[in-house]
Amino acid sequence: MRLILLGPPGAGKGTQSARIVERLGIPQLATGDMLRAAVAAGTSIGLKAKDVMARGELVSDEIVVGIVADRIEEPDARSGFILDGFPRTVPQAEALDLMLTGKAMELDAVIELKVDETALLERIAKRVADTLARGEPVRKDDNPEAFKTRLVAYRQQTAPLSDYYARRGMLKVTDGMRPIDEVTEALFGMLAVQPA
Ligand code: AMP
Repeated sequence: MRLILLGPPGAGKGTQSARIVERLGIPQLATGDMLRAAVAAGTSIGLKAKDVMARGELVSDEIVVGIVADRIEEPDARSGFILDGFPRTVPQAEALDLMLTGKAMELDAVIELKVDETALLERIAKRVADTLARGEPVRKDDNPEAFKTRLVAYRQQTAPLSDYYARRGMLKVTDGMRPIDEVTEALFGMLAVQPA
């Protein structure tokens, strides 16, 4: 199963991906996580991405496409994957199409988690509080200013992907404002996966 989860920051892509990972045993390829790891490790990609990410802007297509191209070569991605946070621009989607065609692979589904933007700021505030309660460091871009920039980036650069995949007859949309379990159930239904 090769799946893309679309939706603005705070829509629940990470939470739902974790459940799909658990149920289907396929890896979650989250470009945000990969980039944060590169920043933490101080690699050359990390150094290029660090400030851009802290501001809430998008890292260049070239960097991100390179990371994903390498990652889907790994053995664990052979039987499928969930892309979380990628693609985020039309050029990234086009690059992904080329990558998959080159490997004779196809996407099975693109699912958009539709959410009410006004609720997202509250969700992020909760994510920050939960993270602090676990004694873990808070993401640098989970502050109101960077979050607004991330939403603008989503609206301007990522939202056009809904049309991109709808035109190919691949887009499914679900209401991401419902309780987490209900969203998971809806996703499994769309993917024809029986809940455990
Ligand atoms: P995320 O964890 O998906 O919210 O991503 C955190 C940050 O990483 C984003 O705000 C961007 O700066 C960067 N990032 C993650 N994925 C991408 C992508 N596909 N294209 C460009 N930048 C990305």
